[in-house]
Amino acid sequence: MDNCIFCKIVAGEIPSVLVGESEHSIAINDINPRQPIHILVVPKHHHSDVAALAFDSPDQLVDLVQLGSRLAAEHSTGSFRLQFNTGAEAGQTVFHAHGHVMSSTPKTGAASATDESSALA
Ligand code: AMP
Ligand code: ZN
Repeated sequence: MDNCIFCKIVAGEIPSVLVGESEHSIAINDINPRQPIHILVVPKHHHSDVAALAFDSPDQLVDLVQLGSRLAAEHSTGSFRLQFNTGAEAGQTVFHAHGHVMSSTPKTGAASATDESSALA
């Protein structure tokens, strides 16, 4: 969709730090991490929010949750939050569905969102 920042990231038109990919989703580091691990899981196709994604393409939502869960297992001790802000009054600022995978307990040795190595390309 025109003028959608996450569509542009999926298309490679805007740089991001890609930390994972699956059939229907990509995972990138959040540009403004609020936790030591803060990854966004984003469907490759445009849906305005997680509710639209759930009704229109439930298989893509499952794919997205599985990707986020795999990355949380890889990067954290196993405890994490998966948050979907839905609607402006709930804090949604990017109207292309995405989940926030956040953890305050990185796995020892795993790169964290606040490491220099994970700075934007
Ligand atoms: P939300 O407020 O739930 O819509 O989340 C949008 C998230 O996208 C915020 O946490 C932003 O920090 C993040 N964000 C915005 N632009 C970018 C970008 N270019 N690359 C990575 N994350 C971004
Ligand atoms: Zn989009």
